[in-house]
Amino acid sequence: MPARDKIETIYGSVVRRNPGESEFHQAVREVLDSIVPALDRHAEYAEAKIIERICEPERQIIFRVPWEDDHGEVHINRGFRVEFNSALGPYKGGLRFHPSVYLGIVKFLGFEQLFKNALTGMPIGGGKGGSDFDPRGRSDREVMRFCQSFMTELYRHIGEHTDVPAGDTGVGAREIGYLFGQYKRITNRYESGVLTGKGLSYGGAQVRREATGYGVVFFAEEMLRTTGDSLDGKRVVVSGSGNVALYAIEKVHQLGGTVVACSDSSGYVHDDKGIDVELLKEIKEVRRERISAYTDVRPHAAFVADRSVWEVPCQVAVPCATQNEISAADAVTLAAGGTTLVVEGANMPTTPQAVRVFAEAGVRFAPGKAANAGGVAASALEMQQNASRDSWTFAHSEDRLREIMRDIHDRCHATAEEYGMPGDYITGANIDGFRRVAEAMLAHGLI
Ligand code: GLU
Repeated sequence: MPARDKIETIYGSVVRRNPGESEFHQAVREVLDSIVPALDRHAEYAEAKIIERICEPERQIIFRVPWEDDHGEVHINRGFRVEFNSALGPYKGGLRFHPSVYLGIVKFLGFEQLFKNALTGMPIGGGKGGSDFDPRGRSDREVMRFCQSFMTELYRHIGEHTDVPAGDTGVGAREIGYLFGQYKRITNRYESGVLTGKGLSYGGAQVRREATGYGVVFFAEEMLRTTGDSLDGKRVVVSGSGNVALYAIEKVHQLGGTVVACSDSSGYVHDDKGIDVELLKEIKEVRRERISAYTDVRPHAAFVADRSVWEVPCQVAVPCATQNEISAADAVTLAAGGTTLVVEGANMPTTPQAVRVFAEAGVRFAPGKAANAGGVAASALEMQQNASRDSWTFAHSEDRLREIMRDIHDRCHATAEEYGMPGDYITGANIDGFRRVAEAMLAHGLI
């Protein structure tokens, strides 16, 4: 059977076996479509049913998370950990706490993570987890009680050589601290490498907090460099205002670009003088307020409620909010407004229809699994420091991150050329990530 037909059969079976999980289907579709040329060259992958095995997580854990709020009311949430693939190392990937979380979201994220982690070239497999718990509006003590209950089940599945969770949407340093404390208490083990994204006071690594956002911008800079260009003087829009967005904005400014707009789920802020990142950090990380508070301090800026940030014209667009946030209509608006480069900071923020619009309009595009891999790469560096009981300086850690992002960029670029699709970073990332996982799986035999 030709590779193209085989892919259709496999995709049909993924949809049948995982009903209602549209985000997972979407992530699988995108990878399968772009690895067809690699399957044509490697008959051994099909013989060993590598793709079928990759699409089936090694283990999926779903559990009850009961907790009590500040008024004594009991709540029940659902917890997930999907251990997708351990061919390259212990399962590795974040935890997402958001009301939209269900098995299909965790599986799409775990599937993406597997290839992303492979692209870093580091010894980490792929996994993801989370809960439909909504931390917004909850007190610190409520979040702590939730995290303790979550870890009371999760602890039996994780470990520094087994599965190493970290943060994602809704899980930052505060949550990782509570999760680590409970793991330590239950197991009676100070196992630093069991979680990454830890605070600097108890085994965290320099630059982990900044790494995803900085890495996205380093990737953008590498893409621009291939045509002798740079971010200097560029007008940039970054969606979101969470951890990835904040540090992407910071790095764009350090490299001479200007971020003129960013957003949260209530709307966006437009500040033509450049987003004041310190103010944004204060609002989002310290006060945990909505983005509209920005204009109280910077009255020349505008807050626009309930509209898409992609209506603000820019040369470079960096989606850092959430999956499927750029629709085909947004893509048309961006291309018409002069956008020539889109670099994904979030996981799968661009719909497949929008990806097609960008391709047809000649807009250069970097998929998240390559461009946002700096976060998990810095997590692997944190694991390395924990294992050797070492801690590196900020400057050294940032240099390592920059090298890793350059390396990921160059391999995506070279793989796309090798397969006759120069400039197609989606193909480059998917084939390079897939080949690495496939080779290790072949070596391990049928497991
Ligand atoms: N959640 C992040 C990601 O999407 C980081 C995962 C990690 O550090 O393990 O890559």
